[in-house]
Amino acid sequence: MSTAAKPNLIGLNPVKLTALLESMGEKPYRARQIMRWVHRRGVLDFSAMTDIGKTFRERLARETVIAPPQLASRHDADDGCVKWIIGTASGSAVEMVYIPEGGRGTLCVSSQAGCILDCSFCATGKQGFDSNLTSAEIVGQVWHARRELGSFEGGDGPPVTNVVFMGMGEPLLNFDNVMDAVDLMLSDYAYGLSKRRVTISTAGVLPGLERMRGRTDVSLAVSLHAPNDELRSELVPLNKKYPIAELLEATGKYMKDLGESREPLIEYTLIRGVNDHRQHARELSVLLQDFSCKVNLIPFNEFSEVSYRRPSASSIGNFRKILQDAGLIVTVRTTRADGVAAACGQLTGAVRDQTRRRERFLRRGESDASNGGLIHSEKSDTRSAAGPRGTAR
Ligand code: SF4
Repeated sequence: MSTAAKPNLIGLNPVKLTALLESMGEKPYRARQIMRWVHRRGVLDFSAMTDIGKTFRERLARETVIAPPQLASRHDADDGCVKWIIGTASGSAVEMVYIPEGGRGTLCVSSQAGCILDCSFCATGKQGFDSNLTSAEIVGQVWHARRELGSFEGGDGPPVTNVVFMGMGEPLLNFDNVMDAVDLMLSDYAYGLSKRRVTISTAGVLPGLERMRGRTDVSLAVSLHAPNDELRSELVPLNKKYPIAELLEATGKYMKDLGESREPLIEYTLIRGVNDHRQHARELSVLLQDFSCKVNLIPFNEFSEVSYRRPSASSIGNFRKILQDAGLIVTVRTTRADGVAAACGQLTGAVRDQTRRRERFLRRGESDASNGGLIHSEKSDTRSAAGPRGTAR
């Protein structure tokens, strides 16, 4: 068997790992043993898996691999957050971020190298798109984080208690690999995370939302960012295909299927002069009046390539108050890891852009600059005399 053809056990979900081992003549409990070694203890070397017979260990070493993605670099922020850069098999680099808070540790993972959806405020979207991450490259981010933090079984490092798919990429456009990775995150023999603490965040890929029903019961976050279709289509072009009413309906169906009192998170990135007016807040209140959810406001985190700007603290406060007065549950996301360019919407990695979008984007920026303008300023001018805009998922 060639090296390239060898199955990579780290990315196989419990069902697939069990099936592979059964095809090798082994009982299902072998899968549980291997998952414990790899995902709970961080062990990659078959020879260290002492509860597995030597002969079978040698066979596993010959016929399979356990290969997490390559960890390229680590960047520690002053506030305790850590950003890691992970190399992908396709030659790109993606980013993941650890955010500690009290006893909780949230890992924000990437699902794609780049993103095809090109939301106007997103640094990832400006990179173009290279490829879907494999399940090994997705769950491998959790593996690396635990190893780096010293929180595998027996370690006393800070834990990874939550995983959010809010890094690079649209997870529902890489459905199968994301779901396989999620299975491992939830498995008691692997990472054992609560279904409430693993969150898929989507820009609104309706076929993916439909497929989630009956396949998984993890938490859901929806990137809304605007209270009406006209503005949302400008910020999230996917909205032209799947408008707000259909998105909320599909979200409601997924949540209803869970059969518990669980609510989706509605994410709304606040961009100065673009979607942060009082009128937008009132419109959003009406839109969500009868929709059970929590709203998370994300003040835009600026990055150099767009002219969007973060709203003032008072404007964020006003927006929040209007929603709260309308009876909505609202939180405002605190900016973390800004010092290492890892705040929401700032993740870029190094994408081998197959779409040439980045090239076009930069060319447009140069042309705008030669006209004395800023990238994207032409659109913001039509919306607000306050000028540019900018942000994140
Ligand atoms: S916000 Fe999400 S869906 Fe939109 S371009 Fe960025 S990564 Fe893709």
